[in-house]
Amino acid sequence: METLSARHLDVLRAWVNQNSHTDNPDGVRKVQASAHEEAFRLGLTLQWVPSTLPNAPHQALYGTRGNGPKHVVLVCHADTVFPKDSAFQKCIENPDHWIGPGVIDDKGGILVSLLAIEELNASFPETVTIHWICMPTEETGSQGYHSFLADLGRKAELVLGFEPALPDGSIIASRRGNQWFQIDIRGRGGHAGRDATTLLNPALEAALVAGHATELSDEASRTSVTVTGLETNSPTFNTIPSTARVKIDGRFEHSAEGERVLSHIQNIGTVPFLKPKTDAVQPLTKTLKILENCPAFSRTPNVDALAQFALNTIQKIEGIEVEVRTSGGSADSNYISRPGLPILDGLGPRGSGMHTEQERLELSSLKTRAQVTASLLRHWGK
Ligand SMILES: [Zn+2]
Repeated sequence: METLSARHLDVLRAWVNQNSHTDNPDGVRKVQASAHEEAFRLGLTLQWVPSTLPNAPHQALYGTRGNGPKHVVLVCHADTVFPKDSAFQKCIENPDHWIGPGVIDDKGGILVSLLAIEELNASFPETVTIHWICMPTEETGSQGYHSFLADLGRKAELVLGFEPALPDGSIIASRRGNQWFQIDIRGRGGHAGRDATTLLNPALEAALVAGHATELSDEASRTSVTVTGLETNSPTFNTIPSTARVKIDGRFEHSAEGERVLSHIQNIGTVPFLKPKTDAVQPLTKTLKILENCPAFSRTPNVDALAQFALNTIQKIEGIEVEVRTSGGSADSNYISRPGLPILDGLGPRGSGMHTEQERLELSSLKTRAQVTASLLRHWGK
């Protein structure tokens, strides 16, 4: 087994021991600053990219290497889900595995992406330009960077994501997208006994929205539209509320499905079902807020050959049979996706227990997964 240099182990240890919860931007920045040093050593041209959110404390670290016509994005992230006051703060080291916050998600992933560039540097493929991005807000939906990531996607012909591999070592070629909708309904409110015939009822309107939204689910295309909240401001049984709110969560595998759901919700969420029968009745108002609209990326035909190459290389280097699979959760790579763009994710290290206090890294996989990415890029660059 090829081992990592002591310096690389020191670097990873320092990253894991540095709290970098998304809400600890100073900590995130410290991990990125150290990654900046490592990337600079490898010849990347680096810059900090500000967030598009007003007064946002985060910055993304972006670097390029190479000058070739084939553009590839390598994406990793420095933030974690472990808050500053969490009991899980330090790296526990065993000879073959480490346990620690963010050790695979995604500090090990940052290291794998950089080690892959180091492997390439011996004979960096002339045809390739690498765009390397170390994100600060992956765990909270890449907020502040949606347009930056989409721009990268327009430039790229291939995206490689360094989220951890799946627990059995498999990699990822598709991720579901998700949407969150909040629909607020306003009416006049009144007494259930006296006013029922002269008022339009926001509670009933909310129920109609919920029913119609649910019908947008489509099992065959694995699209789910789920009502996750139905609230009114009525305190009692006999009060017609003046406001009601519906919360909806949508999940989809194909971007066309995301667009279909969105266009229906834009109608269901803004045009009242209940209409006044006379001028004396006050109409309801409805407002729609789209709180999340994360695109899916689906397995494109042109990703299959690359995925197969990666699987064969893993078999050769690690001696294990793994697969290419779908992951339910979204990541930075979802925001880089566009129809037809091949994306492979889960190219980070092997391990288990991400987002738990048992987060575990298989130490040897840092090197082997870096070798997999390096040969993938050499192959793709031909
Ligand atoms: Zn992650």
